[in-house]
Amino acid sequence: MKSQSRRSFLASGIKTAVFGALANSGLSSAFAQSTPWSNWSGGQKCQPAGRYDISSEDQLSDLLKSTRGSIRPIGSGHSFSPLVPTDGHLVVIDQLSGILDYDADSLRATIGAGSRLGDLGAQLEAIGQGMFNLPDIDRQTLAGATATGTHGTGVELQSLSGYITALRLVTPNGEVLDLDENSGDLFDAARVNVGALGVVTQIQMQNRELYKLKKREWTAPTEDILENFDELAASHRHFEIFPLVYSDYSSVLSIDESDEPIGQTIIPSVETSLADLRPLGVNASPAEKLASNNARAQRAEVSEAVDLSYKLLTNLRNNRFNEMEYSVPIEVGAECVREILKTIYDQAIDVAFPLEYRYVGAEDPWLSMAYGDHPHATISIHRTATEDYSPYFDIIEPIFWKYGGRPHWGKLHSLSHRELAELYPRFRDFMEIRESLDPEGRMLNPHLRKLFNA
Ligand SMILES: Cc1cc2nc3c(=O)[nH]c(=O)nc-3n(C[C@H](O)[C@H](O)[C@H](O)COP(=O)(O)OP(=O)(O)OC[C@H]3O[C@@H](n4cnc5c(N)ncnc54)[C@H](O)[C@@H]3O)c2cc1C
Repeated sequence: MKSQSRRSFLASGIKTAVFGALANSGLSSAFAQSTPWSNWSGGQKCQPAGRYDISSEDQLSDLLKSTRGSIRPIGSGHSFSPLVPTDGHLVVIDQLSGILDYDADSLRATIGAGSRLGDLGAQLEAIGQGMFNLPDIDRQTLAGATATGTHGTGVELQSLSGYITALRLVTPNGEVLDLDENSGDLFDAARVNVGALGVVTQIQMQNRELYKLKKREWTAPTEDILENFDELAASHRHFEIFPLVYSDYSSVLSIDESDEPIGQTIIPSVETSLADLRPLGVNASPAEKLASNNARAQRAEVSEAVDLSYKLLTNLRNNRFNEMEYSVPIEVGAECVREILKTIYDQAIDVAFPLEYRYVGAEDPWLSMAYGDHPHATISIHRTATEDYSPYFDIIEPIFWKYGGRPHWGKLHSLSHRELAELYPRFRDFMEIRESLDPEGRMLNPHLRKLFNA
């Protein structure tokens, strides 16, 4: 064991030495040598010392107990922010997946935290359950999605973390903690944890009976919708808009429960609209783009579809992009959207991607974007992955700050612990819990050190 450690040390430094010792232990089957890691957009990359593909909680606990050095749990790499990059070791829990247990009366299901959201729909359908809400795509793992407070849209609906009723956390020192509402602060900290408190292996979700939804998509003048957004959000289970840039129009989406027969209509996606909105190219003036985009938006068709909730709520996003998203109090949401659209126009920023504007219901997890007693509005900006997002995002981010915006943990932002502590009322409490669970900071990377002043 010692000589193995020395060889690894010579090859890759102390961290690798500590982990290299495991090559001869029961963990060797889980270990893979270093391969480059990159997120979905390609904007975040790292060369970790190695990765562990964990097959059981015992194995994970052994790993954390018998090693030192940096470690980052990873999901499916769909975060835009640098939460994962490390020169230490990655921990993959893809094998801890599927429905482990369920209760037909309470409609709760205990799920392996490495499950992909997209695999869970059919598995839950088989036991007569459906998740209350889903985000825009379903490629994420349940652990990764909840770690960042991933949400869908719906003023009465919470983020995925809001529906967690219990979870199992293997702490950085290998201790296994079962947390639920009786665990107090630790539970509210762990439901949105940015992978800084340990590795989550199981999550119990409050679901509901299986249900169908009807989706309707159309275009409408942005101002008409913004003026009536509260009423529209209250009268639909899900309601959101994709305000088109250089346009007076938005793509509008409402989704409601339905008993109508399942019928698949081809729904033109925002990406299709996006392609339509590029024809004038970068050299067109803002006024030319506005006229052209308005004319196109007016020609867009209304589309409808009915299906099981999990099939209707998520989309395929094949055009890779980077994203920034902040939540603001709903009272100022419309004003914030207006200012962003005006800034893009006035400064002739070269962007074609629509914004996204949604409401998320109030909830308790401390680091949730909608933490507190009131729903929040979330606003996203996007830039194609092949383009440098900085010039655009750097101009828009201060607008979010002006409206008291809280950043999405999985999306790009430039804030550190000082500002975050002002925006998230329990942020300092989270920092204390993090410090107590991980005094050596082995779960940290440079980005998390900046977030937590560690
Ligand atoms: C195309 C696209 C669409 C998106 N749409 C939405 C949307 O509609 N709404 C929204 O809110 N977000 C959305 N996101 C953001 C995305 O949901 C989050 O960034 C999410 O965290 C990604 O999950 P993941 O499994 O890829 O996790 P990763 O990105 O791999 O990791 C995210 C975080 O989770 C931690 N983590 C992973 N596994 C564990 C574990 N077992 N224990 C503890 N921590 C762990 C990691 O350390 C990291 O901090 C979208 C992203 C993309 C690329």
